[in-house]
Amino acid sequence: MTANRQALFESVKRIVVKVGSSSIAVQQSDGFDLNRPQIDALVADIVAAKKKGCEVLLVSSGAIGAGLGRLNFKHRPRKMAILQAAAATGQSRLMYAYERRFRRHNQYVAQVLLTQEDVENRERYKNASQTLQMLLKHNIIPIINENDTVSVKEIRVGDNDTLSALVANLAQAQLLIILSDVEGLYTSDPHRSRQARLIPVVPRITGEIWNLAGKASSELGTGGMDTKLKAAKIVTGSGEMAVMAKSSEPNVIQRILQGENIGTLFLPKGSKLSGRKRWIAFCLRPRGTIVVDAGAEEALTRYGRSLLATGIRSASGDFLFGEAISCVNEQGQEFARGLTNYDLIRLQRVIGKRSSEIQPEPGQKYYDEVIHRDNLVILE
Ligand code: GLU
Repeated sequence: MTANRQALFESVKRIVVKVGSSSIAVQQSDGFDLNRPQIDALVADIVAAKKKGCEVLLVSSGAIGAGLGRLNFKHRPRKMAILQAAAATGQSRLMYAYERRFRRHNQYVAQVLLTQEDVENRERYKNASQTLQMLLKHNIIPIINENDTVSVKEIRVGDNDTLSALVANLAQAQLLIILSDVEGLYTSDPHRSRQARLIPVVPRITGEIWNLAGKASSELGTGGMDTKLKAAKIVTGSGEMAVMAKSSEPNVIQRILQGENIGTLFLPKGSKLSGRKRWIAFCLRPRGTIVVDAGAEEALTRYGRSLLATGIRSASGDFLFGEAISCVNEQGQEFARGLTNYDLIRLQRVIGKRSSEIQPEPGQKYYDEVIHRDNLVILE
């Protein structure tokens, strides 16, 4: 399938560019260093895209890679404390490199470091969003990375592909460009098979597409094809577009924006989701799972109804009122996420009951809906 990219990209006024560690840092025989020519080219490309009227946010990896060089490591260690020290050292090195290069083009930049908690907490999410919008309004390019120095497993987004998709939502960008050392999504592994073909357009990220994603990642970065697909899934699920392309292609960002057929384009799944629904669907980590019967699944997915206790078969996890839970069908497939009006203990008491059979508990606010449709997002 091909797509008229020029027509599709006409409405693109704000983009997020994500660049991977393997494009920013190089691993040489004597250790890790910054890939200066690549950073020069990236900066010039971003500045040119901006001059043509497109607002740009940059999500840049490479802090750990750049820091490992300073700490004299030849290979990526596993110890968290070393990686965090490397991230702290490398982040300032990285920003210094960007700051200097952008200044040559009379362009100011700002550093924004985020963690999972910043996108999960609604107040912090809104604050981060406002800050990004304000920076853009003042013509400043935000350069974003995960705050690796303080991030432990529980509070990490974990990889910058996913982070870039969350940033695209935070900034309400219409396009996410994921640049790395791969050209895009292939029909099979191009290193192993001569028949491998680049897929120019993915209309929908189906199970078949997921099967194409290998898990490989480099010594420097965290992500592989699966995290890139996950990022594309978030962006297209929100109603926006994503392109995966190779960072070493000359003027890759400008050429993508001009509609040239480079890399793989992922089309929006449906209409645009509201900011709040994007937050519910993609920023919150579900605290539990509800299995619903076929009738309820249909009522939710086809008719846009709220989820009632009567359609629920079982519930598990550890969730409180207002937390995110995921809805799965009887085949175990997750098809929706939402905010629950019941904690697990109260929900267990009403599962399978009709609204008329539910006795309001003294002192508790009674809800007809377990998840109100305003707080529910259909994923599949
Ligand atoms: N935040 C990491 C860094 O700057 C990279 C994570 C990733 O590659 O996904 O080094």
